[in-house]
Amino acid sequence: MGFINNERYPEWLDGLLVSRGEQSENTVIEVPAPDGSFTVKIGDGSLPVMAGPCTVEGRTQVLETAMAVKRAGALLFRGGAFKLRTSPYDFPGMRDEGLKILAEVREQLNMPVVSEIVNAAHLPLFENIDIIQVGERNMRNAELLTELSRIDKPIVLKRSHSATIKELLMAAEYIVSGGNRQVILCERGIRTFEPMTRNTMDISAIPLLKELTHLPVIADPSHATGLPQLVKPMSMAATAAGADGLLIEVHVNPEEALCDGGQSLVPEEFADLMSALTGILSVR
Ligand code: PEP
Ligand code: MN
Repeated sequence: MGFINNERYPEWLDGLLVSRGEQSENTVIEVPAPDGSFTVKIGDGSLPVMAGPCTVEGRTQVLETAMAVKRAGALLFRGGAFKLRTSPYDFPGMRDEGLKILAEVREQLNMPVVSEIVNAAHLPLFENIDIIQVGERNMRNAELLTELSRIDKPIVLKRSHSATIKELLMAAEYIVSGGNRQVILCERGIRTFEPMTRNTMDISAIPLLKELTHLPVIADPSHATGLPQLVKPMSMAATAAGADGLLIEVHVNPEEALCDGGQSLVPEEFADLMSALTGILSVR
């Protein structure tokens, strides 16, 4: 028995545009290929995978990684150009140059791309980016969410490491209520007392969100665990739990990575993960 039509139904959900009560059927987000030859659907029961390096480091790195993840079955390429780092001395990303590289590779491989925005003033630079990511640090940035509510592009909204389900859905409501209904929620781990993993992956958030909202829910086991050996089992768990997609960090040479190399899969590990997922998908 679920929450809907039940006395345990959370009052705060009532009337929200993101709620199942307002729309019972799943929102399906359609992302056309750059040349229009196919459409990636998110939320239709399939498992599109977004993969790529944490950060764009150069043209060759991006091209090599994109070719490898495409070969393994990833439908979307993901790379960060603007990085919000904990330390001001860490690599902040290639910024607009990084977005240009993504746009080139997008055309060359006919692959839609995903990249993170950190400032609404940068929106014009994202013209050739198919899906805009809001990172966990900006999930609570209502001004940015409001700006993104006015555009016609899908948004991946990552759950803050300290956000409740209610706070995540309220953040999504900012985007949807302003007119942009193309929101994809992303579980990427929450902070707990456990120091052995980077975060704690809240697998239960996936079926819970799927019950409370019609929006697609994807999972990011790379940031949730911080450990490459946990990415495959947690991807399988998220898939079994009903995820509408996965976000996976892949690097051709993790030791040399400028950001998050320690949690990145190499292309061979990514290919192995993709074939393991086929089995789970066939039984859900
Ligand atoms: C990322 O996706 O590379 C990232 C920094 O994610 P998060 O905002 O979830 O930490
Ligand atoms: Mn990262």
